[in-house]
Amino acid sequence: MTKVRPSITLNDETDKLIGNPSAWNELKCISVHNKAITNNSLPAESPREKLTNTQPKATWNNIDWHKVEEHVNRLQVRITKAVIKGKWNLVKRLSYLLTHSFYAKLLAVRKVIQNKGKRTAGIDGKLWKTPEAKMKAALKLSDKRYKAKPLKRVYIKKEWKSKKRPLGIPTMNDRAMQSLYSLALNPIAEATSDKHSFGFRKFRSTHDACEQIFRCMCRKRSAHWILEGDIKGCFDHISHQWLLDNIPMDKPVLRQFLKAGFVFNRTLFPTEAGTPQGGLVSPILANMTLDGIEDILANKYHRGKNGRITNSQREKHKVNFVRYSDDFIVTAKTKEIAEEAKELIKTFLKSKGLELSEEKTLMTHINDGFDFLGWNFRKYKGKLFIKPSKKSLLKVTEKISKIIKKGTSWTQEALIKTLNPIITGWTNYHQSVVAKETFSKLDYRIWNILWNWAKRRHPMKSHNWIRHKYWGTKGTRHWVFSTGIIQLKLPSSKKIVRHTILSLDKNPYLDKEYFTNRQYNQGLKKLSGKFKKVWDKQKGTCPICNLPIDINADAEERPLHYKNGNHEDNRISNLIYLHVHCHRQNHATNSKSNNCCPT
Ligand SMILES: [Zn+2]
Ligand SMILES: [Zn+2]
Repeated sequence: MTKVRPSITLNDETDKLIGNPSAWNELKCISVHNKAITNNSLPAESPREKLTNTQPKATWNNIDWHKVEEHVNRLQVRITKAVIKGKWNLVKRLSYLLTHSFYAKLLAVRKVIQNKGKRTAGIDGKLWKTPEAKMKAALKLSDKRYKAKPLKRVYIKKEWKSKKRPLGIPTMNDRAMQSLYSLALNPIAEATSDKHSFGFRKFRSTHDACEQIFRCMCRKRSAHWILEGDIKGCFDHISHQWLLDNIPMDKPVLRQFLKAGFVFNRTLFPTEAGTPQGGLVSPILANMTLDGIEDILANKYHRGKNGRITNSQREKHKVNFVRYSDDFIVTAKTKEIAEEAKELIKTFLKSKGLELSEEKTLMTHINDGFDFLGWNFRKYKGKLFIKPSKKSLLKVTEKISKIIKKGTSWTQEALIKTLNPIITGWTNYHQSVVAKETFSKLDYRIWNILWNWAKRRHPMKSHNWIRHKYWGTKGTRHWVFSTGIIQLKLPSSKKIVRHTILSLDKNPYLDKEYFTNRQYNQGLKKLSGKFKKVWDKQKGTCPICNLPIDINADAEERPLHYKNGNHEDNRISNLIYLHVHCHRQNHATNSKSNNCCPT
């Protein structure tokens, strides 16, 4: 398998194109028409002519997603290979082919209707709820005379901040266009990305970033200083001109994404800088803008006089770089080196319209510790510990406390059902670090809040009475908040699991097998009891489309399906993990299991 990065010659060629935008603009494209669908369940010829009003419903529910994904993936693999070889003319042709393929359009629409904001309409008020609407949307998706509508601006209040944050909502059609062009842009971004960038990358997570920091900092002789970088309003300030000059995608479409403007109080405001808010393409654009910091640091600190990167050279400065979206850290042997690295990064950012926040960009000694992605990294007596950050514990406690306050008159069962997913989510996130102590703290805090909740409900009853009404004993554990049928999850009973290490040289489009295996193994580690057995039985693959399931996705994206429709029947033979779209399709086409799970 070809190694993707880092390769100096490849970078040079990438730069040639990225530095010379006209190269991309002048590259010729072959013209292709919408590929006719050759799938049995879909019309064979041009879908535009064949589909009548009654047909789309049947077709959306009969899409062979395996075929659709294979087709799109094949093109993405070809794009990746072309990028690695520096064949930018071919990259451009393949990108065109992909963004004009009907399969890619179907996939783009599917992504939009699965996304979290699927119930929030843009400025045109349109939502795609029915199978007909979804199919029509895919058929209509086109760059011909494409004009993005302005974003609908709303203000949302963040839990722990008093200031309201503006949010832009694109229309469904604009979201789908961004999703479609992301399908072509992402393989390019993956193949040219900084090696230690982890945010919004395929198959990479905050946990991989955490692991990488551990690797850089765990030894006695590791760097002692950390530059904590904070880019001022990164997404809002990236220069449009820089993006238009440097992002290898169709310029008129990109211009539409960037210049859509937004509407607030019935007034249209232009957007002069930044990536499109609320759009699927934004994280990719931001990543591509920030890619390259690693190279400038390597050139300065890792290369010897002969131009080669050597370990002894690295050892001199101990400079390492880890980025998650627009958050990053740089390690350094001394404070001076960290200061110097900061200046280098400042210059790099300036050309992109960005700057570091002077107040929030900090120099920290590892003995004082720093927070990153919800964790605290700190050395105690020379040993590195990663724990859930105080802020993160505070946030989850506040969230739980708010719910319990709201639930003064709820049943105990309703309260447990609301709290359990929050506790599971939070402990899952932290289960790979040194978290036992923090989990016990959370146990105690939750107990306290619940005790007050229970006392307030029964002011006339004795403590003993209250205790027996809401708490029971389970095995060796007393004080289990339980109805007898359902019980509250206890944070401290979460087992600590070491994170599955990621090989940083693997490319998600070229090393499919590696990532499939990794996901399967991650599932075996993360799940337990019968869920683990179910996962193992299906080898981490969805039996409907035969493609792997992403264990790191939200639970609602990989629902557990009850084969016979009976939710009380928890036998392993009755349970199966599916993709959310396969699940939906299964229920839509198979009336027998219609009353099974909510879709
Ligand atoms: Zn599936
Ligand atoms: Zn189901």
